[in-house]
Amino acid sequence: MARERLYLFDTTLRDGAQTNGVDFTLNDKLAIARMLDDIGIDYVEGGYPGANPTDTELFGHDRALDTTFTAFGMTRRPGRSTSNDPGLKALLDAKADAICFVAKSWDYHVRVALETTLEENLASIRDSVRAAKAKGREVLLDCEHFFDGYKANPKFALACAKAAYEEGARWVVLCDTNGGTLPHEVEEIVGAVVKVIPGDHVGIHAHNDTEQAVANSLAAVRAGARQIQGTLNGLGERCGNANLVSIIPTLKLKPDFADKFEIGVSDAKLTGLLHVSRALDEMLNRAPNRHAPYVGESAFATKAGIHASAIVKEPATYEHVAPDTVGNRRKLMVSDQAGRSNVLAELERIGLKVDKNDPRIGKLLDVVKEREATGYAYESADASFELLARRVFGKVPNYFDVVQFDVNVEQRYNANGQRVTVSMAVVKVRVGEETLISAGEGNGPVNALDVALRKDLGKYQSTISGLSLTDYRVRILNSGTEAVTRVLIESEDETGERWTTVGVSPNIIDASFQALMDSIVYKLVKAGAPA
Ligand SMILES: [Zn+2]
Repeated sequence: MARERLYLFDTTLRDGAQTNGVDFTLNDKLAIARMLDDIGIDYVEGGYPGANPTDTELFGHDRALDTTFTAFGMTRRPGRSTSNDPGLKALLDAKADAICFVAKSWDYHVRVALETTLEENLASIRDSVRAAKAKGREVLLDCEHFFDGYKANPKFALACAKAAYEEGARWVVLCDTNGGTLPHEVEEIVGAVVKVIPGDHVGIHAHNDTEQAVANSLAAVRAGARQIQGTLNGLGERCGNANLVSIIPTLKLKPDFADKFEIGVSDAKLTGLLHVSRALDEMLNRAPNRHAPYVGESAFATKAGIHASAIVKEPATYEHVAPDTVGNRRKLMVSDQAGRSNVLAELERIGLKVDKNDPRIGKLLDVVKEREATGYAYESADASFELLARRVFGKVPNYFDVVQFDVNVEQRYNANGQRVTVSMAVVKVRVGEETLISAGEGNGPVNALDVALRKDLGKYQSTISGLSLTDYRVRILNSGTEAVTRVLIESEDETGERWTTVGVSPNIIDASFQALMDSIVYKLVKAGAPA
């Protein structure tokens, strides 16, 4: 039997951007949009053109994505015409494939918040959908507070949805804006809506205020809705939005959904889900939720004992799905056997051919465990792990030694009387028989150190000239009694390849230096530079 298509709509960049403490730059937004596009999300809502400079700029250019890139904004204001509403104009002018309008569908809000009549609200929906259609855009209507509105005045809530559908909106999205609706209510109300509007034109947008946004989304699909809106890692204001990182594997792996529906995310892309989830956390400099379903560090972790021995024999005894389907791994804590298989899988990934009985595997495992206990995070630092592994197996040449480095930070006033902070670093390296001394200036000590270190590496200079640092993240960890600093550095080379390295130390400069060194050595190894 042919499976029905379910559409996924991501609003991480719009609703997710409402999260406390989240402030996406233009580059963040583009990187997230590319990631979502790559895994096969049908719609990516980019933001609110005209509302702030970042979103205006984002919608000022074409982005070359396959996903339907969507702009969000309000329907025309009450009492104005579509041609005389600057907010609507910005939305219609945005370079977007689709426009998602938000409109009131709760009579209480129309009276109290909009201070207009129910009829004018309906006219505003119709006029706005018509104007966007005339511009050749695909149109969606977010019916704000739909479920609360339906409970208060079902006739009016439905009239709002119908007005958009009849005017040609591709999707009418039912929003649980306050997030207080329960799954059985969602199922019942969506069931009533799809009698009036075909379910393949109905979407669900659930907030997580009773921790049921995922359940509510699935309930809506059971009742007939065919679009799900949500965010990566459930980002969103208050308690967040429906978490697509939980919804996607559920739709793909649970037969009740998988047998009936098809989504744009392939099995192969599903295995990249963990990476997508972690990449967002890294971008936000947030510690990943260890207990996140499917992708959390602990999602497939079992303590040693009877569970663990059963899991080794038959994984299905204690796992609801296979961890590798979402890119996660089974973790049997305290059991060397599990650690071994993890390390073996990593060695295979980086292309190191090792006999599985090689005693050095145990040695590498010990080093990783020891270092992770002090704060290293090899999960996030692929390149540092690779170097560590290659060192244990004796395969990293000693390209150069840093004999000494010195960094200073100076605060002074410039000629204009402004306070400036400048840093200078001097690095002494030995490359073969040669001793090289370089100085570098930067806006901070790490920057100065990086400039000095990469200024002159003698015969290796041409190999590292295309190297650049693309991200630098710091996290303070409490390890035992003292605080230590973990630095993660992301680098890129002239081929566009990116890798991450890690350093840990009570001293932030030292931690940064370790990560910088790993980055350079990794590049030399990758380039096959001779010792
Ligand atoms: Zn929302």
